[in-house]
Amino acid sequence: MIVLPRAVVTHIAEAAEAAYPDECCGLLVGRAEASGDRLVSRVAASPNVAEGNTRDSFLVDPKIQFDLMRELGDGPECIVGHYHSHPDHGAAPSERDRRSVFYPDHVWVIVAVDGGRAGDMTAHLFDTGRGRFREIPLRVTG
Ligand SMILES: [Zn+2]
Repeated sequence: MIVLPRAVVTHIAEAAEAAYPDECCGLLVGRAEASGDRLVSRVAASPNVAEGNTRDSFLVDPKIQFDLMRELGDGPECIVGHYHSHPDHGAAPSERDRRSVFYPDHVWVIVAVDGGRAGDMTAHLFDTGRGRFREIPLRVTG
């Protein structure tokens, strides 16, 4: 399960709508519990620096990621995942997403944007054994 504060959900939805028809992206900062649950406290927004078509691909700015990793150090918080949007597509991971798994312990949060309006938001973990994503519960608090 991944737990997102209401303010984080709002931020992601607004970023997705602002970036439309391009994909937005950013990192999720929080704690990974022993149970496997991820508790997100905040986001680190990133420009989409994907080369090529940013309407169906995204790349978090590596500098933002490395600066954040340095800032977070040994904890207690870490990068627990990232988010991106799917302009005029559903909130399920795409084939391109499946080929872009570099951190298998990161949760993928995806928000669908339909005609410029944010809609469904889902969370996924990549199952390296099976080579595919599985959806995990997403809970909103606050
Ligand atoms: Zn995607």
